[in-house]
Amino acid sequence: MDSRVVGILGGGQLGRMLVEAANRLDVETLILDAENAPAKQIRSSEKHVTGSFADEKSVRELAEKVDILTIEIEHVDTTVLFELEKEKGDKLEIHPSPATIRLIQDKYLQKEFLIEKGITTADCIKVESTEQALAEVGEKYGYPYMLKSRTQAYDGRGNFVVSSAEHIPEALKALHSRPLYAEKWCPFTKELAVMVLREKDGIVSSYPTVETIQQNNICHLVYAPARVPDSVQLKARNLAERAIASFSGAGVYGVEMFLLPSGEILLNEIAPRPHNSGHYTIDACATSQFEAHMRAILGLPIPKKNGLSMSTAYTNAIMLNVLGGVKPNSELELCRRALTTKGATVHLYGKGTRPGRKMGHINIVAGSMDECETRLAQIQGEDSETET
Ligand code: ATP
Ligand code: MG
Ligand code: MG
Repeated sequence: MDSRVVGILGGGQLGRMLVEAANRLDVETLILDAENAPAKQIRSSEKHVTGSFADEKSVRELAEKVDILTIEIEHVDTTVLFELEKEKGDKLEIHPSPATIRLIQDKYLQKEFLIEKGITTADCIKVESTEQALAEVGEKYGYPYMLKSRTQAYDGRGNFVVSSAEHIPEALKALHSRPLYAEKWCPFTKELAVMVLREKDGIVSSYPTVETIQQNNICHLVYAPARVPDSVQLKARNLAERAIASFSGAGVYGVEMFLLPSGEILLNEIAPRPHNSGHYTIDACATSQFEAHMRAILGLPIPKKNGLSMSTAYTNAIMLNVLGGVKPNSELELCRRALTTKGATVHLYGKGTRPGRKMGHINIVAGSMDECETRLAQIQGEDSETET
């Protein structure tokens, strides 16, 4: 579909699923990551780069070989991306823009930016790593409050719930040497997420609002669409689209939100790339979040009206993350049961098994959420039937 070469910084599962989408469009991709990283396994090329997306030299090596650079992770070296943007001019496109990546990779700057744009978020404040500063936050926000690392955060690693003044020394120990900020506690009733697509001309569109359920700060289940009234779904999409319209650069963005008991929706954080809450789109939508990302950065067409909606045959979906079990490969039991379940699809990432590691996911599609839940129960071994 396009003769330009796309370079991807990072070759984990998100990179792998981007490559899957690119392969179907016959678009060449080159990956920067360790040898045999999940994304490299499904695209043979002698031109892949071995190294780290946080290393200037490696990023430059990849940039020399491609026409468009994109990311599967926001924790990349942005200084070199800004330099490349200047040096290469029209010869290299970077999506999303280095400015967007830099803003989003610091969760406090991201929040400041969103607040300035009129997006509702949890109250937050920059905080020094001292007991006194943390105690002052406690007086201002009350307990519990959430202490967060501004940078390098993922899967809740970088967050600490400060449940009382007595926990302050423990919080400082857990997040020592990290730049910090604090957030007021959000007593949410549900966590919602929306994948938003931003095209090069700035037009934004979104996939349906989904509901995410985390276990130990890691995404466990996604219900698509979210089990909330249509008005709440629409409000979440509007908030997410408004937020993403204010950034620069094309691609998909994952927008995480909190639904409060009052019905108010607060934006939690943004990922400037495909996101775990959008994996269901591979099987439930004609155009997955990964293909939408590739099309947007290449400037390929996207169907306009409702182009990203769920297929009329599969109006509901559940995604279950497959995490490494305590015993090596024990997570494959879940996958085997999924293979016997109607409407379920197994996606494995080609990673070595390790307890708690994201090894893959299972998508379940059906015409109703009740049916999705019955199929989920079977996969989780909570149902005595072997066939649905
Ligand atoms: P990710 O892997 O999504 O990037 P992360 O490490 O950046 O995660 P957050 O999304 O900030 O972490 O928080 C992880 C989880 O902690 C949230 O999904 C939510 O369940 C909970 N959480 C975060 N902030 C708050 C808050 N202010 N009040 C209550 N719970 C919160
Ligand atoms: Mg995050
Ligand atoms: Mg998060």
